[in-house]
Amino acid sequence: MIEHPEAVLLARQLTEHVVGRRIAEAVRGNWPHKFAFYSGEPAWYAERLCEQEVRAAWARGVLIMVAAGDDWVLVLGGGGERITLHPPGAPRPPRHQLLLEFEDGAALSVKVAGWGSCQLWTPDQAANHAWCGSLGWPPSDERFTDDYFLALFEPLADDDVRSIKAFLISDPGVSGMGNGYLHDMLWRARLHPRTRAATLDREQRLALHAAVVRVTHDALAGGGRDDEYDLFGAKGRYARRLCARTVGATCTACGQGVLTKDSFLGGSVYWCPVCQPEPPRPEPRRRRKA
Ligand SMILES: [Zn+2]
Repeated sequence: MIEHPEAVLLARQLTEHVVGRRIAEAVRGNWPHKFAFYSGEPAWYAERLCEQEVRAAWARGVLIMVAAGDDWVLVLGGGGERITLHPPGAPRPPRHQLLLEFEDGAALSVKVAGWGSCQLWTPDQAANHAWCGSLGWPPSDERFTDDYFLALFEPLADDDVRSIKAFLISDPGVSGMGNGYLHDMLWRARLHPRTRAATLDREQRLALHAAVVRVTHDALAGGGRDDEYDLFGAKGRYARRLCARTVGATCTACGQGVLTKDSFLGGSVYWCPVCQPEPPRPEPRRRRKA
């Protein structure tokens, strides 16, 4: 899944290698995919994108925005897209969900695994769409300061039951945050994923901010996760400390805990039972006697 570091890295590569190219042909995929999200009619892609120059590419949270001319923005990312640049003369993938052929003979393909976006928005939609209109600063941005992060906690009442996992990913959520890097961040901050966000003291919130920034920067420096690909098909070098592959291994921070997995909030969570002790689970509510 493309998360914020991958979106930033792909947008940088698109800026360097695709901006300035002119689109000769646009095919909205030659292979149906139930969870490839498009906008409008299939014919719109060719009508709207042909003869447009790629003007800019940038990351917005987990999304990758590619401006084609002044009127259209292609919205990729956030899912399992494989976005690849093919040099002139190189074979194109036999199945794809989007293919842009450029006038100079190069091409950009998007293949969706799981689900993914190949949407075409106006610049106004791109600025205001619910997917990204209300996003705050992502951890790669210098405005993602500790004060900014601490302010996200302010609306929480003392009895708020949100876990720190839910708080970071969805409610209110940090821009670009997903399950991919979450567990390394919580592990560095020594917080169990079920910990109630409202119970964190200031020091814990600051430690979490530092961990989020650190992991994001490490991911960017490492070219993204080692199961994700860049524009040229090269895998990233960021190996997650906590993921399905490391369950059962000894924690490298404490040298004692055995990395553990459980299901929580519709996904897997990973933690070290020594570094990140599980908070007591709330007792089931008792029925009031009549
Ligand atoms: Zn540990």
